[in-house]
Amino acid sequence: MASINFGKFICPACNASLQVIVPPDSLDLRCPKCAAELVFRPRHQNLFVLACVVLAAIVARNEAGPLFVAMVCILSAVFLLLGSAVLGRLRPMELKLAHRYFETLRVR
Ligand SMILES: [Zn+2]
Repeated sequence: MASINFGKFICPACNASLQVIVPPDSLDLRCPKCAAELVFRPRHQNLFVLACVVLAAIVARNEAGPLFVAMVCILSAVFLLLGSAVLGRLRPMELKLAHRYFETLRVR
């Protein structure tokens, strides 16, 4: 599979300028300068997910109980997939530090 060249980005850990080239199936990368683990993802991803869930809740508002929950889950997934497909590469991307929760739980 061909890699995608996303252009220049700044490492959030060491401010080094990076050429981000990733295969389409893996958006996890590592800074070659400071070895920080980075995540490459669309900007405002959390907001985008929240918007999809809220939109799903509005559409499913007339359903009751378990059906409402099921509708919200299914519709959220549909909106997420549709939104990602429609917006695609138009969404601005960002480099963020990967959060490794297991490291913070390590006992010293
Ligand atoms: Zn770095």
